Amino acid sequence: MNELIAYFESIPSSHRAAILAGGIAFFWILESAVPFFKFRYNKWQHAGINLFFTLTTIIINFLLAFILLFTANWVTTHDFGLLNWLPEMPMILYTVCGLLLLDLIGAYAAHYFEHRWYLLWRFHLIHHTDTYIDTTSGNRHHPGESVIRFAFTTIGVFLVGCPMWMVFLYQTLSVVFTQFNHANICLPKKLDKILSFFIVSPDMHKIHHHYQLPYTDSNYGNIFSIWDRIFGTYSYMEREQLIYGVDTHMDPKENNALGNLLKIPFQPIRKPSQE
Ligand SMILES: [Zn+2]
Ligand SMILES: [Zn+2]
Repeated sequence: MNELIAYFESIPSSHRAAILAGGIAFFWILESAVPFFKFRYNKWQHAGINLFFTLTTIIINFLLAFILLFTANWVTTHDFGLLNWLPEMPMILYTVCGLLLLDLIGAYAAHYFEHRWYLLWRFHLIHHTDTYIDTTSGNRHHPGESVIRFAFTTIGVFLVGCPMWMVFLYQTLSVVFTQFNHANICLPKKLDKILSFFIVSPDMHKIHHHYQLPYTDSNYGNIFSIWDRIFGTYSYMEREQLIYGVDTHMDPKENNALGNLLKIPFQPIRKPSQE
């Protein structure tokens, strides 16, 4: 456990980049071997757009990282935050509690409000315009959304009282889990179901990418599935019935054009067909 903490305390940027790139490569190969949907799409062109958004997400997080570092250092030196107010506990339990709470505030709540507030939805919408969900879709976030998510992560670190190693650990897990649950792979249904009791499984997250309400507004979880179950936002549908996208933006010409995707947040809002 101590080695793990020491590693994440000073994880080199090159290792973080290698995990991101290695994860995409790993799931890309798996998608070719056991695809779930046999998409007829230009995988490279599709990946090009999503990797552009991955790159902007990395740049924004890099530029703003000092805020996160400052927050984590401040809560640690001031013993501030939920984790620091809990009674003494074994390190492993402390870590699990921290990851769970950061997942709730920094990710689940961020995602929930992105679907509830139109101002935030305008930016998050770009993630949902993808009609070919694969491992590269995981970080298809408009730069505006990357800033929104960063703000929630910072609030999460502040309220939970996370040390920086825990933030790095969470972010590393988040990258890999996001790649996993967006990957166009076919897990046995039973295995997916069992996983979905603990973590956000591929089927669970893909239901969130179904093009119509109420499914779009469900399964907000990032790593852990417990929050959707506790807050009643869990939903299920058979994977064969999934249609990816969002009903207000189904035109491939709009969804596969980078320039348009960047402009969507500033276009007039469109009403979904079901509410
Ligand atoms: Zn969403
Ligand atoms: Zn997604």
